[in-house]
Amino acid sequence: MRVAVVTVGDELLAGDTVNTNATWLCEQLTERGVRVERVTTVPDRVADIARVVNEYRAEYDAVVVTGGLGPTHDDVTMEAVAAAFGRSVEQSEEALAWLTTHGGYHAGDLVEGTTHLPAGARMLPNREGVAPGAVVESVYVLPGVPGEMKTMFDEVAEEFAGERTYTEAVETPDPESSLIPVMEEVQERFAVTVGSYPGNSVRLKLLGADEGEVESAAMWLRERVTPMDEE
Ligand code: ATP
Ligand code: MG
Repeated sequence: MRVAVVTVGDELLAGDTVNTNATWLCEQLTERGVRVERVTTVPDRVADIARVVNEYRAEYDAVVVTGGLGPTHDDVTMEAVAAAFGRSVEQSEEALAWLTTHGGYHAGDLVEGTTHLPAGARMLPNREGVAPGAVVESVYVLPGVPGEMKTMFDEVAEEFAGERTYTEAVETPDPESSLIPVMEEVQERFAVTVGSYPGNSVRLKLLGADEGEVESAAMWLRERVTPMDEE
């Protein structure tokens, strides 16, 4: 399964808010064996959100969108997702029923627009906040507030599935260029792929579908590189 993540918000683009939602979603999806192939941040603007959602829903098996829910003027994500499908937003009876029975709200207290979802969407209740999420075909729309987003994602997590993968990291002070031969050899000997992430040291990350194979590959590699503490 190949997935794209879209985070919505001017504050993310301005550098005011660290995009922890993207990182968290990528981690959750990857752990489930889903391949995340795009992470895109767009401003709170209907045309921009709709364009990206439309492009990605054609290309990927699912799209996860977070941020810009709720009834305030700068929250336009639902309207944009609806536009991407050529639908309108309309009052969701499901959302209204949930908020008045489980959410503890009276219909009259809810700010106009709170229960508006793209026509025909499946409503996702917001157990940590107010604004409901939605699923429109393969597009999942979640809130921006991290706690609300996480709780809502957990409820639909089962819908994201792929081949589970395992990872092991091996860190070494050796220069990256000197590691090329062992990186090649470990991939020949074991059913793993290896990525190299240089920084002050080099982190080699092994990835594979078989846990034992990944562990053996990591053991093999650790015997062939300089360990961190012997620098
Ligand atoms: P609300 O219903 O409260 O308006 P919302 O779903 O509309 O929530 P936003 O208005 O986009 O969400 O963002 C609410 C808050 O959530 C932001 O002020 C920010 O602190 C946080 N937030 C939004 N997007 C992200 C993100 N990608 N990563 C981390 N935090 C975020
Ligand atoms: Mg908001």
